Amino acid sequence: MINLKSFTFFQLKELIKELGWEEYRATQIFTWIWQKGINDIDQMTNLAKTKRELLKEKYYISQLKLAKTQKAKDSTQKFLFTLMDDENIESVYIPESSRKTVCVSTQVGCALGCQICYTGQIGFLRNLKFFEIADQVLQVQKLVGQKLSNVVFMGMGEPFLNYEECLKAVELLNSDNGLNIGARKITVSTVGITDKIYQFTQFPLQVKLAISLNGADDKTRNYLMPITKKYPLKELIEAIRHYTKMKKKRITFEYVLVKGINDRAPDADKLRKLLIGIPCKINLIPFNPYPGCKLKQPTLTEIESFARSLYTGLPAVTIRKSKGSEILAGCGQLSGKFTT
Ligand code: SF4
Repeated sequence: MINLKSFTFFQLKELIKELGWEEYRATQIFTWIWQKGINDIDQMTNLAKTKRELLKEKYYISQLKLAKTQKAKDSTQKFLFTLMDDENIESVYIPESSRKTVCVSTQVGCALGCQICYTGQIGFLRNLKFFEIADQVLQVQKLVGQKLSNVVFMGMGEPFLNYEECLKAVELLNSDNGLNIGARKITVSTVGITDKIYQFTQFPLQVKLAISLNGADDKTRNYLMPITKKYPLKELIEAIRHYTKMKKKRITFEYVLVKGINDRAPDADKLRKLLIGIPCKINLIPFNPYPGCKLKQPTLTEIESFARSLYTGLPAVTIRKSKGSEILAGCGQLSGKFTT
């Protein structure tokens, strides 16, 4: 049996052509799957029964299975989904007034082992397919009963190490026949796989790019994010300058503040010098602890003092409030298993 959800719109059009059906049938079927979110071919009521029977002989529609859900006091919700091969991933719903964001996973686990991140401690299991990434948005939308406005690729996994599938997922999320989410409302976050940043410059959709920076010199960054050895800061900053120049767009830097590691005055000074001249905004994120981790979160006074010392050279600095951290739904706290 073949999963109809694994077809891009283009592939579905080809299939419809092979079946000898009218062209518009592809739009009808795609809409049933990605807008109405059905998982039973019999529910495609604008297809004749004979056509549905024919489809059912060879095709089915997969759906992520909800294994568990948790809700934090601030209304953030975390969902544990089981995939067809019984692997688990997590997605997080973050409602903030009119903005309804979902944070999606792009891999089962992650190979990069960043110290600031729980996912990094479980290792890499596999890449997600584009439809498994997009299905998180569809299922969360159904579960919370709200049209989602924003999608961030910041869950489990490094999106640029699953580049093709992530871009296909972005196209599906953005398309009129798909989930119809504005490209500017989609953010892809990377630790800085530089060759992919250059490649991403060519991607035509106006998706936002975020860089998980977390250190302003190679030694500190490498301690928190070992990938720095392969992609040193000099190379990363060069790629980012190229991206902002070509796209004429501002970039977002995420900087997780870890007590005594990257939150001191000299770190702020280095960060300011490193980013000066790059059109950017900086999100300072207090480190979210996870089970077994020895790193600590700085105090609010320390965080504010760090932010203040950046303002002179880098005015667009925000301190991001951690959402859902008590249920391990905050930034860097996903693991594919519910541990709270
Ligand atoms: S921060 Fe991102 S890249 Fe680093 S280990 Fe976690 S999921 Fe992987």
